[in-house]
Amino acid sequence: MIMPLDNFPDYGILTVKERQSMVQTQLVPRGIKDPNVLNAFMNVPRECFFIEEYLKNAYADSPFPIIENQTISQPYMVAVMTELLELSDADLSSGAKILEIGTGAGYQAAILAHMGCKVASVERIGKVADFAIMNLKKVPYGRRVEVFVGDGTLGWPEEAPYDGIIVTAAAPKIPSALLAQLKVDRKLVIPCGNLMIQQLLQVVKQQNDIRINRHTGCRFVPLIGQDGFKE
Ligand code: SAH
Repeated sequence: MIMPLDNFPDYGILTVKERQSMVQTQLVPRGIKDPNVLNAFMNVPRECFFIEEYLKNAYADSPFPIIENQTISQPYMVAVMTELLELSDADLSSGAKILEIGTGAGYQAAILAHMGCKVASVERIGKVADFAIMNLKKVPYGRRVEVFVGDGTLGWPEEAPYDGIIVTAAAPKIPSALLAQLKVDRKLVIPCGNLMIQQLLQVVKQQNDIRINRHTGCRFVPLIGQDGFKE
């Protein structure tokens, strides 16, 4: 696979090689196919979204702790969720507007922004939002991400409607506000279940209905809020 690489400064101990190997060993063999998704993973430096303590693990096949008991998701999970938004080349070149709930480290938002999306990302914890804002400043396309502090179970109506919504925390059910803020024929990608285990759902909004496609089992930190788990 030959893909163009952005001209990034070297952040020290981690290299372009590790990023390419992450794509070739963690994403491609597990079925990630969307070339725009693979290209973003080839280029976004995951080390920019880590805390110092775990920096050497930036390309490991696993989630890692950030601050405030939260995590940066496993690369494969970020890739599956991004692919399930089913964004076309036309969507990306016209700057599709995506809502992310659960900014965390900002890595998922950076992947979407690298692809060409405009991202509104809502984070419940102020300190975590500040961490993400700091991380996103390290990459040029970080400018395409706006981070808001609030309860994402209510969505972010100010910027609605969206061309896709991605929830990166475990939800007990599908928050109705998110469906209301999504365009028809577009996808909401959300891990739904209990606190221990969830299933990744792709919810397709139709005119008067929804269609649910079920995907992999997963485990996320809880979505806490009015239409999520209680604190
Ligand atoms: N997308 C992130 C990982 C997210 S971890 C990344 O790429 O690194 C999940 C995040 O969801 C946590 O930071 C948590 O604080 C946040 N969260 C939990 N409930 C929330 C809510 N109701 N609204 C917004 N963010 C929420």
